[in-house]
Amino acid sequence: MGTRWQDHRSRRVLRAMERDARRTDGPAGPERRRSPALPVLGLAAVVAALAFALGARGVGVDLPAGLGELFHQRVYVEVDGEALAVPRPAPASGRLLPEVPVTTGGTYAFLRQDADGAPVGYDPCRPVRWVLRTTGMPDGGEQLVEQAVAEVSAATGLQLEYAGTTDEAPDVDRAIIQPDRYGTDWAPVLVAWATSEEVPALVGDVAGIGGSAAVPGADGAGQWLAAGRLVLDSEDLGAMIAAGQGDSARAIIMHELGHVVGLDHVNSVTELMNPMMSGILDFGPGDRAGLALVGQVDCQ
Ligand SMILES: [Zn+2]
Repeated sequence: MGTRWQDHRSRRVLRAMERDARRTDGPAGPERRRSPALPVLGLAAVVAALAFALGARGVGVDLPAGLGELFHQRVYVEVDGEALAVPRPAPASGRLLPEVPVTTGGTYAFLRQDADGAPVGYDPCRPVRWVLRTTGMPDGGEQLVEQAVAEVSAATGLQLEYAGTTDEAPDVDRAIIQPDRYGTDWAPVLVAWATSEEVPALVGDVAGIGGSAAVPGADGAGQWLAAGRLVLDSEDLGAMIAAGQGDSARAIIMHELGHVVGLDHVNSVTELMNPMMSGILDFGPGDRAGLALVGQVDCQ
């Protein structure tokens, strides 16, 4: 039993997924020995940015105000072999929530960084919409998800906005834009409960999976996270909740949400982003510093 990693990649689908190995200490079992953490395989989203210039050059008419915007250069990403237009973000006039200052010191790591070493995160000027698949959700599970979301929102300064329930299954090859289900914008963060029968990546002591895709801005500049996914092992977490260990289940959800907003694993045993579950039930000082920083990225 140890930390296992599987790097899911596909040239066909733009996505990023972390398979997360977390030891699920049995509700009644003794504390198991911590296995050494293995090196982290950060997942680089395969962003095939094919910059098609749909410029207004050559258009010999005066465009009404606002229409010219439609002809600005767009960026396309290749999804399932087709060029997919990167969504334009909704208008924004600044951060939705105040920046969270870094007031703690500790170990943290980012799943993705730009060339300057700055973290790639969700756009803090727009809500990070999330949807919940309730299939298989254990009693008390929704409340723990809501609490974990609130913790991550407070720690990042990102506005995580509940957008309702969904019937989307947590497929490995999640499409990052699903027009029929969510419209033409990036798909919202999917929070799903599943068994290891439905999601084999959850087999054994894997309690959750979390991650987001990294996508370019609509004009091709910059990079942000989008279309995150979080899959929770309904059996492992359900057993914890039933055994009165809801705090542990919530800690797992917070850990996975940490991945969704851009944090990577660290080896420090005092941080919740350690890949192995231990007695840590809340974000540690390094986690909080990292969460504040992923919430401070520029707006699109
Ligand atoms: Zn993890």
